[in-house]
Amino acid sequence: MNPSFPRAVARIDLAAITHNAETLRARAGVELMAVLKADAYGHGLIPVARAAIAGGATWLGTALLQEAIALRNAGLTEVRIMAWLTPPGDQYLEAIELDIDLSASSVEAVEEISAIAAIAGRPARVHLEVDTGMTRGGALGAWPEVVAAAAEQVTVGNLVLAGVWSHFARADEPGHPANEAQRNSFEEALTVVKEAGLKPEVRHLSNSAATLVDPNARYDLVRTGIALYGLSPDPRTLGNASKFDLRPAMTLTARLLLVKQVPAGVAVSYGGTSITKRATRVGVVPMGYADGVPRHGSNALAVNFGGKTVSVLGRICMDQFVIDLGPDSTAQAGDEVTLFGGEGPSVDAWAAASGTINYEIVTRLSPRVLREYL
Ligand SMILES: *Cc1c(COP(=O)(O)O)cnc(C)c1O
Repeated sequence: MNPSFPRAVARIDLAAITHNAETLRARAGVELMAVLKADAYGHGLIPVARAAIAGGATWLGTALLQEAIALRNAGLTEVRIMAWLTPPGDQYLEAIELDIDLSASSVEAVEEISAIAAIAGRPARVHLEVDTGMTRGGALGAWPEVVAAAAEQVTVGNLVLAGVWSHFARADEPGHPANEAQRNSFEEALTVVKEAGLKPEVRHLSNSAATLVDPNARYDLVRTGIALYGLSPDPRTLGNASKFDLRPAMTLTARLLLVKQVPAGVAVSYGGTSITKRATRVGVVPMGYADGVPRHGSNALAVNFGGKTVSVLGRICMDQFVIDLGPDSTAQAGDEVTLFGGEGPSVDAWAAASGTINYEIVTRLSPRVLREYL
């Protein structure tokens, strides 16, 4: 890649991240965890972490422990960092030594982490996860046993109860009875903890959607991912991000590889799924599904060229796709196209055109797309 003339660039507006963190922090009125899993939803782990901290985030959350370790090793020592997706045998010793908060959903996990803490010679900070209705992570029927196991390890000094937490399945459907049921179930789980003589430092339940629309679920800390990046958890049910004063942080651009004249009636790209209706000029965009452009967006996505919306012709290939620039276009190879964000279509429009959600559009952008920070 020629760094001074890159093929494909995702521009990340760090001021937007900071603004969004400030907005979410003010709205929640409690501590803010910036959720940075999957390379900060494709935006870049470390720069986004710093921007979120500048906006008032006092916690950073990741799925993988390796992401949490990378954050600590980048010198982010002034914040709490939590990783919640750690399989048995994960790097617990390193996590404990780096003061990274862990999660446990089973007696086995509590015991494994506690045994490593005994070796480390300092207690592990653990958040117990309860399944309140998502039926994914978290303890379900075994919750009292998990709490009892944790209480025992707190007593012997292997464990600090840093938190109790759960996760919503349908927070993007405000008013759905499942949300109230999950809140009630969380309250019951907290009662079990209290009766075991334990007091968590923080209780947390809300993702972005709940942070935006459910004041009853905020507890001591909210875990915001998608909203931090300026995207709505679900534009159809909650409205657009702008309604909540959130600014999209990512603009995806590419340089045209080739521009050429084609006649009417020619078949474009693999399978000939698009036939030109008129003579026109087409542009070849050097990005494809290997970069994260969804193949389901074949014949459906649009991009922006020179202030105008132009459509994708035919199938998205691995490394390229074709756009219809129109018969009068003066475009040249090397000119910039905006795929989404900025002057281009919204991430939400891309998600709708390719049958997915905005989360997937930004997260799937591959490492070969250069990230540039504003
Ligand atoms: C991804 C994730 C979040 C953030 O979800 P958003 O909808 O992006 O805000 C919060 N909590 C957990 C456990 C997650 O895995």
